[in-house]
Amino acid sequence: MKTLKTNFLKEFAARLVFPVVMGLGLGVGFFLSRSSESENIIALGSPIVLAALVIIGILERLMPYKSEWNKSHNDVGNDTIHLFITQILIGRIMQPFWIFVFAGLTSYLASQYGSDIWPHEINLFLQLFLALLIAEFGRYWVHRWAHEIPWLWRLHAIHHSPKRLYFLNAARFHPIEKIIFLIPETVPFIILGANAECLLLYAIFNSIHGLFQHSNIYIKMGWLNYIFSLTELHRWHHSKKVGESNSNYGNNLIVWDLIFGTFYWPKKKLVKEIGLLNPEYPEGYLSQLKAPFLGDIDKPDDYYNSPERYAD
Ligand SMILES: [Zn+2]
Repeated sequence: MKTLKTNFLKEFAARLVFPVVMGLGLGVGFFLSRSSESENIIALGSPIVLAALVIIGILERLMPYKSEWNKSHNDVGNDTIHLFITQILIGRIMQPFWIFVFAGLTSYLASQYGSDIWPHEINLFLQLFLALLIAEFGRYWVHRWAHEIPWLWRLHAIHHSPKRLYFLNAARFHPIEKIIFLIPETVPFIILGANAECLLLYAIFNSIHGLFQHSNIYIKMGWLNYIFSLTELHRWHHSKKVGESNSNYGNNLIVWDLIFGTFYWPKKKLVKEIGLLNPEYPEGYLSQLKAPFLGDIDKPDDYYNSPERYAD
């Protein structure tokens, strides 16, 4: 009886955890954006994301997908450096840079159309959905190319190097790749003139979703797996088997995978091994920064898209 009750609670929590934490994050962001006098509304997202990071870290302990993945693999220090440099520092530097570069085009378009092209008048959560759809389109293709074009894969391999999945894996990217990913994630909004409130909600959604996507939390999304790109799909994307990992490229939404034929969700199977083919891939921060420029990061370049790589 007790086991039945525990199982029911576990399954119930697995379905609620993402909608509840995301709903709270977006709700607090919405409330703060409406009540704050701050000039820099987007900065209000930082404490919300930090709180979500702590909550998701705790949830991994309370409801893990795999207990084994909760044990340190000597990767927490490295991922923390990736978090500060790639996710925080690079973002802070690149966003003003793109605004500076595209400011002229934005004001030109605004003068042509009488105002920004962005639909400021529609519901803020509809604006968020529109922002996600637009950013995800570019992000989908850049991510797909990162798997299909050898020199881009060299940069992206860092993100696929962990042998387990846990929330901090969301931060592990090469800084050069992060700069490339920031183009589809920021430039369309600058050109279209999206407002700060919408960008705040986008930043909160993107960060919380990324942490959940890589987390070691037991999550069941049901039909929502046809909308969001969460753990049940993203674990396949981190499979060591390339035929499985060249799928589910969506960063937040899975819609472009469904449209372009890369959606992969075998419901009766569990992913086996996570990570790269190369067991010698470096684990330290500096050696990972250098890895894309060295000869033997995984296998020779012509191997990446060969049929051999897709075999069992
Ligand atoms: Zn990938």
